[in-house]
Amino acid sequence: MYPWLVSHRQQLQALVRHGQLGHALLLKGMAGLGKRELAKELAQMLLCQHTSITPCNNCHSCQLNAAASHPDHHVITGEERSIGIDAIRQLGQVLNESARLGHGKVAVIMQAEKMTEAAANALLKTLEEPAGEATLILTSAHPEQLPPTVRSRCQQWLLPVPDSAAVLAWLSAQGQDGSLTALNVNQGSPLNTRDYLAAGTDRQRRQLLQQFAELAGHRHLLPTLQQGLLAEPRHLQWLQLLLQDALQLALGVNTALRLVDSEPLCRQLSRLGSARLNQALTELVQLRRTLQPTAGRPVNAALQLGQWLNRWTQLSAAGGRDGRLPH
Ligand SMILES: [Zn+2]
Repeated sequence: MYPWLVSHRQQLQALVRHGQLGHALLLKGMAGLGKRELAKELAQMLLCQHTSITPCNNCHSCQLNAAASHPDHHVITGEERSIGIDAIRQLGQVLNESARLGHGKVAVIMQAEKMTEAAANALLKTLEEPAGEATLILTSAHPEQLPPTVRSRCQQWLLPVPDSAAVLAWLSAQGQDGSLTALNVNQGSPLNTRDYLAAGTDRQRRQLLQQFAELAGHRHLLPTLQQGLLAEPRHLQWLQLLLQDALQLALGVNTALRLVDSEPLCRQLSRLGSARLNQALTELVQLRRTLQPTAGRPVNAALQLGQWLNRWTQLSAAGGRDGRLPH
């Protein structure tokens, strides 16, 4: 179990032991915190045949769970684009049958916010008429997208973002040399930061930021940057953080930078002045909104991105001519 989840597991364990766990639980918390693992562990705890030391990892039930073949443990992974009504109806039927091993049933719905409206309505029926021994566990990184009627029928459990120092220590124990910047770029998510570091994405970020800051003097880099960002529009977030940090410095706001390791670059860009930085930032926020996958990608995504990079090149070149951006 991840160290930042240990105390949550203990508290949930205590609820189970005292019979205070409701028949529906909603585990809330940002992506990359380990909600899936906690839900899995909780399911194992509920199904274990040795209730005094749950989970015992020894009984028939625990062994079936370890092999992911427990007949009373049902999971909807939420890996598809959406969770449809058929999946929820099917789950409702299964939960109405009696437990095969006679020790309750658990259904886990991961990324529950992906339920369609019809699916959520079907789930409401299950939530309103709980099958005697069934426990439902919903997990969601976007609980605000769940209908209030679903939320209000669940016992809610919030997993907060763990302390940075503790996560950095954990990353280092995983053999990943994490930095505060890498953590900030991933909104403090331990698992997302681990994957990001393992994939070498941090190097990619530093390179992209450098090229972006120097675009005015190296215009030949523009098509490469454009292609890279078109393939990975989420990397625009790095540029947004860079511009935000630079703007913060330009305005003399005294709060910690998010891109701690790119401070020299942020300082260099801050000399462009707040008006230019603010303009680039506002346009970038707008651009990111139009490029969001949920917004339905615009046909002219490449064009919009190219235009923005062009405006940035001109803007930063003008700043350089003013003598505000010395090399
Ligand atoms: Zn057991």
